[in-house]
Amino acid sequence: MSANLAAILYLIAGVLFIMALRGLSSPKSARQGNLFGIAGMVIAVGTTLAQSSVEDYLWIAIGIVAGGLIGTTIALKIKMTAMPQLVAGFHSLVGLAAVLVAGATLHSPEVFGITDEAGIRLISRIEMSIGVVIGALTFTGSIIAFAKLQELMTGVPLVFKGQHLVNLCLLLGIVALAVLFCLTQSPTLFWIMTGLALLFGVLLIMPIGGADMPVVISMLNSYSGWAAAGIGFTLENTVLIIVGALVGSSGAILSYIMCKAMNRSFISVIMGGFGATASTISTGAKDKTVKPGSAEDAAFIMSNAGSVVIVPGYGLAVAQAQHAIREMGDLLKKAGVNVRYAIHPVAGRMPGHMNVLLAEANVSYDEVFELDDINSDLPNTDVAFVIGANDVTNPLAKTDPSSPIAGMPILDVEKAKTVLFVKRSLAPGYAGIDNPVFYNQNTMMLFGDAKKMVEEIVKALQA
Ligand code: NDP
Repeated sequence: MSANLAAILYLIAGVLFIMALRGLSSPKSARQGNLFGIAGMVIAVGTTLAQSSVEDYLWIAIGIVAGGLIGTTIALKIKMTAMPQLVAGFHSLVGLAAVLVAGATLHSPEVFGITDEAGIRLISRIEMSIGVVIGALTFTGSIIAFAKLQELMTGVPLVFKGQHLVNLCLLLGIVALAVLFCLTQSPTLFWIMTGLALLFGVLLIMPIGGADMPVVISMLNSYSGWAAAGIGFTLENTVLIIVGALVGSSGAILSYIMCKAMNRSFISVIMGGFGATASTISTGAKDKTVKPGSAEDAAFIMSNAGSVVIVPGYGLAVAQAQHAIREMGDLLKKAGVNVRYAIHPVAGRMPGHMNVLLAEANVSYDEVFELDDINSDLPNTDVAFVIGANDVTNPLAKTDPSSPIAGMPILDVEKAKTVLFVKRSLAPGYAGIDNPVFYNQNTMMLFGDAKKMVEEIVKALQA
């Protein structure tokens, strides 16, 4: 394939990736966006494989078959609720790939055509340093994020005295080693720099916990994009640079949006949980009482209400109750109730989690409202039906500055005339803190699995 044809095909792939991102920005066009992305990837991979520089297809075929099999098996088996840790796991592989490519380049620079009379070209040394550092911290940072999300380690911020100073010293050390490597081409300095970047990744994510994990996921997404762009520079592959930059910048924009939604400082999060303090975990107040209710009670209250706002959360995803909740909503609408859905930006375990579930159950987009658009209307709402959500409704975010969710905007469900809370127990949510709304006079707890409870409510509404 001629270089010109390859350049044109890479350009087409790049345009398709941009159209994919545009499509993915709205649930209505997301499927089409995915198709654009798939088409772009087929063109990009096909063009790369057709390059004259590819001499042997055996190892490539082995890689494609092995990777394809592993990827397909994981994709078929993975639960929707485990998607964030899967994404974190995949990000770690992008980071590792960047480290391995940079290592291979250092080992055999002539194979990559990046040498001149002085050894490795200076610009390539700079690219390798940036690529390996971002790749290494993405690799270990994503592993820590995976462990936190999979609950292999505590989700509580892990902080120690002088942490920010250690982080700063590490960062300065990495920069100094990168400069020295660029001057000397010493492999020893290169690998010490990589080791420090690996450690830096661990220290960056360790202090982040509770409500800040969504930002971390989108931030690692961004880092993995920049790591891929770094590989693209090393391999002089235009489409990889384009894709890396697109993923890197869209991840950064998503992180910024999540930070705004969470009322967090972007800089403090990317610098590794600046301001994070170790917080205490509460497992539910033992001396307080709640008002439990049944599915029949809930059906009676809601069918006599003028307006119901449904607030879905992580438990809805666990129970896969999205179809049942839509059925319940439809029945209430038939009975003349104004039914709306309120989505908190970090409800569930990944950005857009609840939107995806409700879209899967064909809930009309017109009935789905973002936090800012519905909060002011909650005091005029008869019933807030909170299903499997917890942290996103917790008013401690506003009143307790030591809480791990302090400052996070919440859905003010307690302002509705009646609050119905569907969950299995009084256990806390992801941030590990008790929710005072459970004990309010106007709250009725509907204990049980979200899907089963809603199915029973549906039966009661039909009776
Ligand atoms: P929470 O994690 O706060 O609460 C979920 C609740 O669902 C739990 O209290 C649990 O209570 C209940 N639950 C679990 N399984 C079931 C079930 N089968 N049936 C009924 N209830 C169930 O979820 P939210 O959505 O309110 O908040 C999301 C949290 O996750 C926030 O802290 C956010 O920061 C964090 N997070 C969000 C990410 C994102 O990108 N969206 C990523 C990572 C973290 P019980 O056990 O009593 O049933």
